[in-house]
Formats: sequence, C-alpha cells, structure tokens
Amino acid sequence: MDTLQEAVVAEETLDPPDWADMQALSHRIVEDAVAYLRDVRDRPVWREMPVDVRTFFSAPLPREPMLIADVYDDVARNVMPYPMGNIHPRFWSWYMGASNFTGALGDFLAAIQGSNLGGGNHAAGLMDGQVVNWMKEMVGFPASASGTLVSGGSMANLIGLTVARNVKAGIDVRERGVGAMPKPLRYYASDQVHSCHRKAMEALGLGNRALRRIPTDAGLRIDIAALKAAIAEDREAGFKPACVIGTAGTVNTGAIDDLQALAVLAAEEDLWFHIDGCIGALIAIAPENRSLVAGIDQADSIALDPHKWLHAPFEAGCALVRDASQHRKTFAVTPEYLESRPRGLASGEWLHDYGLQTSRGFRALKIWMALKEHGVEKFGRLIDQNIAQARYLTQLIEAEPSFELMAPTTINIVSFRHRLDGASEEQLKAFNTEIMLRLQEEGIAAVSDTTVHGQHCLRVAITNHRTRRDELDLLLRETLRIGAEIKAAALPD
Ligand SMILES: *Cc1c(COP(=O)(O)O)cnc(C)c1O
Repeated sequence: MDTLQEAVVAEETLDPPDWADMQALSHRIVEDAVAYLRDVRDRPVWREMPVDVRTFFSAPLPREPMLIADVYDDVARNVMPYPMGNIHPRFWSWYMGASNFTGALGDFLAAIQGSNLGGGNHAAGLMDGQVVNWMKEMVGFPASASGTLVSGGSMANLIGLTVARNVKAGIDVRERGVGAMPKPLRYYASDQVHSCHRKAMEALGLGNRALRRIPTDAGLRIDIAALKAAIAEDREAGFKPACVIGTAGTVNTGAIDDLQALAVLAAEEDLWFHIDGCIGALIAIAPENRSLVAGIDQADSIALDPHKWLHAPFEAGCALVRDASQHRKTFAVTPEYLESRPRGLASGEWLHDYGLQTSRGFRALKIWMALKEHGVEKFGRLIDQNIAQARYLTQLIEAEPSFELMAPTTINIVSFRHRLDGASEEQLKAFNTEIMLRLQEEGIAAVSDTTVHGQHCLRVAITNHRTRRDELDLLLRETLRIGAEIKAAALPD
C-alpha cells in the first residue's frame, strides 16, 4: 500500500495546458473562418497547389510536440487556400452542396459534445431520430417508417438495396448467405444509374451483372416497356426479379424516372421499389417543382443526401425505409456488450441497429441547426431558385449560336458544348475539355464534363445557394472567350 500512495505518477491528458490560450486561439480561428466564408466570392474557385504545399503533405509522422498555434498556422497556410471549391458561388462540378456556416458550427459543437450516436439514452440520439423524422415528413413517408443518417448517398443506397435483398432472398440470407438463395436475384435501374449501385451490388454478393441497366428514352428516363420486357425475360430464365431502382434526378442530366409508373409496376411485379433520390428527393419540399417527383412517397426505400440540396457540411446522407421492421431485421444484432437496460445510459434506442456502422457521429446537429434557423420552406425555395437558374442558363445557351444544348434540362443540371465548325466528335471533346480545364485553372468557374447519348459535353450542376444569375452570364462569356483563344492559337499565323 505504501508504494501505491507514495508513487508520483505523471499522468497526461490531451486538454490544453492553458485554457485561456486555447480560448484566444479559438477566437482567432472563428474570426478567420467568418472572413473565409464572407469573402469566398473574391477568391478563385480553385487553384493548383504549389510544389511546397504538395511536399508539405509528405512530412513524416510527428514525434515531437508543437504549439497548437503553429499547427493552426500550418493549416491556414497549406490547407485553407486550396479547397475543392464547392463552397464557391461559381462551383458547378459533379454534384455537391455548398455547405453553410451554421452547419459548420453544428459540426464543431457536435465534436465538442463528442457523443457517439451508436445509440443510448442522450439528447444527441433523440435529435438524430428527430432529423430522420423530418426527412420522412419532407418526402411524404409515413410516421411509421424508419431511417438512418449515414455518410452520404452511396451508403444510403446500400442500406436500401440491402433491405431489398434480405426481404426478397427467399431464405434467411443473413444466416445462410447469398449462395443458399434458391434463385439469383435481379435488380433493375436505368442505364443512367449512379455508379454507387454497382458497388453496392458487388458488396452485397449479388454481383454487378445482377443489376440490369434498362435503356432510357430521349429524356434519359427509364424505358418502362423495356423494363417490363427485361423482368419477363428474367423470370423466364429462372432469375428472381427483386428490386427496381428509380432515379429521382440522374447524376448525368438530372432526369427523373416516372416514379408513379415504377410504383405501379413494382406492385404488379412484386418488386422492392427503391428510389435513389440523392439529387431529387428533396424537390418534394420545393413549392414550384415538387410535382416533378410525384410518386416518391410510394417507395419502399429512399436514399437522399442532405449534403447536396440541404447544403449540410460533408458528410450527411439519409436512408429511409417504409417498413421499419424489415429495416431493423436487416441490421439489428445485439451482442452481449450492447444490451439495453430499462434505465440509465443504455436505455435509449441503439441506432446502430439500422445500418452497418457501430460508432456513429453526431451528423444530425448540423442539419438540425440550419433547418431551425432558416425553416424548411427556405430550403425549398433555394431548390426552386437553382432550378430556375438552370432554366435561365439553358435559355442563354439556346440563344447563343456557338453553343449547343446536349440534353433536356429537367432540374438543375445543364449539359452543353461549344460548337466547332467541321470538327469531329474527338476534336469537339478535346476542345471542350480544354475550355473546362482553363475555366478551372484560371479560377473562374468549376464545371465538369460527361457523355450523353455518346457525345461529350460540359455539365453545369447548380446545387449552390450562393450562385447568382450574373455568374452564369459570366460562365458563358468566359467560355466564349476561352473558346476563341484556343481557336486563335490553333490557327497558323
Ligand atoms: C451523389 C449521388 C450519389 C452518391 O451520393 P454520395 O453522397 O456522393 O455518396 C448517388 N446517386 C446519385 C443520383 C447521386 O447524385
């Protein structure tokens, strides 16, 4: 006993040695952060990192301590000036949200509270459930449905497709695995389906070929007659048609499958009806455009993405499942170290029973705070605003003879290219790619590119609450300028 009492043990902690110093630094960081977002319009959308910044990230594992103020200086110098750019008003690449300051505060406070949303009886857990309930309400799902916040749309789709597999497997697939299924399952989606579904099919052990890509019509929506034919053909060949994936807003062009027709067909054919609504599910809250996603409330499961049109800071996705018991049955496992108790900390719901993660972050807070601050109606108006901006851009493109619209604009994605007289498809692709790269490298705007109906095009996806119409004017002006420069340089003097 004597030795235990006498030993002087140098115990350590990660807490700051001086809280007042930390407070002062924190104030500085917040001031810098406010200025960073306030002045975002004055900076280039994107810039290439200089060599010294690149090499900064090959420094070895730090072994010695460093003052936190110096650590922050490293971040301020090497990280903050070189963002992806999606918070910038002229970022329209791929498909992502533009974040928001309130959401960032939410992330900070979530980390300060530090709760693990694997479950349990605490406020963060209740808020997580509340945000899921709000999402259900936004898309018209019944209160009895369940859901879970996940890292993003890819995970949300994986959740839906997994429940579909387990419901349709015909055996206890959790226990016996896909090898024991009496018939191989078939899933169906349009040929515009997002690549995450392929990964999901692979991870589920069903394989990529089990996802049949159905041709699309001129508007790039799934061809319902072709889908019916494929289902009949598969039944004939001994497969079990299990699930149809409707896309509400394809990533290529924003096309929205006929969700009502898919709901009817899924009921007739006894298929699970999953909707990939990562882009478009939230159009259900947009007053002027909500009819575009009519039928979304008919789905058995929906994937949606608060880090897109709700502009939550990454990451936040959400999976909703109409039949809560099927959702639970797919994921719930209660190991002896996670048993519930009638009282105390372990008496809350185990949220990890609704997905693949055990520990979960407090994603709800950033969504919750921004929704409370602005109200859901404003988010709906912002969605309408982006769609109106895309239609405006489409009109400008159609009015300019140098441009060609490459796909119908349904929502907020515009596909177009700069014409080049007498050029081959290959030359057009090289020309437009060069325009895209120079727009990025000159820090003017970030657009991406894709291939629609076999033709290369530039793609402008306006999921951005900071974009203003004059910035779309600027995009086209600069596209013309760069196009003229490239053409001039290519001409022999
Ligand atoms: C973005 C997107 C996904 C993937 O979502 P993440 O949040 O990036 O994981 C899936 N489907 C569609 C249609 C998307 O637009």
